[in-house]
Amino acid sequence: MNYRKMGRTGLNISEISLGSWLTYGNSTDKEIATKVIDTAYSLGINYFDTANVYANGKAEVIVGEALKKYPRESYVLATKAFWPMGTGPNDKGLSRKHVFEQVHASLKRLNVNYIDLFYCHRYDPETPLEETLRTIDDLLRQGKILYVGVSEWTATQMAQALHIADRYLLDRIVVNQPQYSMLYRYIEEEVIPFGEKNGISQVVFSPLAQGVLTGKYKPGGNIPSDSRAADPNSNMFMDNLLKEEKLLKVEKLKTLADELGISLSQLAIAWVLRHPNISSALIGASKPEQVEENVKASGIKLSDEVLDKIEAILE
Ligand code: NDP
Repeated sequence: MNYRKMGRTGLNISEISLGSWLTYGNSTDKEIATKVIDTAYSLGINYFDTANVYANGKAEVIVGEALKKYPRESYVLATKAFWPMGTGPNDKGLSRKHVFEQVHASLKRLNVNYIDLFYCHRYDPETPLEETLRTIDDLLRQGKILYVGVSEWTATQMAQALHIADRYLLDRIVVNQPQYSMLYRYIEEEVIPFGEKNGISQVVFSPLAQGVLTGKYKPGGNIPSDSRAADPNSNMFMDNLLKEEKLLKVEKLKTLADELGISLSQLAIAWVLRHPNISSALIGASKPEQVEENVKASGIKLSDEVLDKIEAILE
């Protein structure tokens, strides 16, 4: 496993990381989730991602329990807040009250003394950014959080955050967590260039397009029964990724991966990691074998010729 710096910091994170959305506490039971996390840890993954809202807190409990047996300094634990955790008027967003309460609730559910990386899960237009950043800075100074990131913020929103941080000498955001894969590329336009200039790297989620870029969904609508797309509790964001025109491209990408002697999932992960501003490809996994296959993408360098062939397929 190769490691990369997270943004302009001294922190090394594995270039392939493991998340817990839609899996742990949800489609994947605790015993298998623990096996997947153990497999990831044993293969050098040191960055584990969760959020308060995943399975309404259950994912944090499972991830925290699975990692508890390992030395705390050997892994980087990230969680997030923003999405509703209840029906009350203050049970969501990035207000001082909600962030403060959720960080403490996450510490409890994860059963740790500090969170390595805390993300603002989305931008909150209803809360002054100064309020959020000051609250997070207070939590940083109290040692409850070590680094701060954002998820799916635009370059303009991140610029506002840096401006406020510099003005009030608050800790800067160092990482953004956007969606990025061969099938979803908007961050190439503004977010990556902004990150490069400003010491903010990307930890990219769904690099396998939720499993579509493994090649297991064939054109014609054949959905494997044990897959995310077959699970009505988990497939709500997959329609666009499963469009026939995308699946036809995926077939061509699979042929290219076969020619290279690697799996399509390895090609898809190596492709997002080609960019130095990407610190980590944040995968999900419902089985230990998936992690075993996917981590082999670490260190694969794609030649310019292969990158051109991929562009030609995707255009
Ligand atoms: P991926 O694109 O890596 O999809 C993961 C899913 O693909 C797995 O659960 C599995 O699903 C399938 N899969 C993975 N590897 C293989 C393989 N080798 N062969 C066959 N199938 C495979 O990422 P996710 O969409 O799961 O997102 C990853 C993480 O990113 C999340 O857990 C979360 O931490 C984070 N995230 C963050 C968001 C944000 O707003 N910040 C939003 C979404 C995710 P199955 O076996 O069930 O088909």
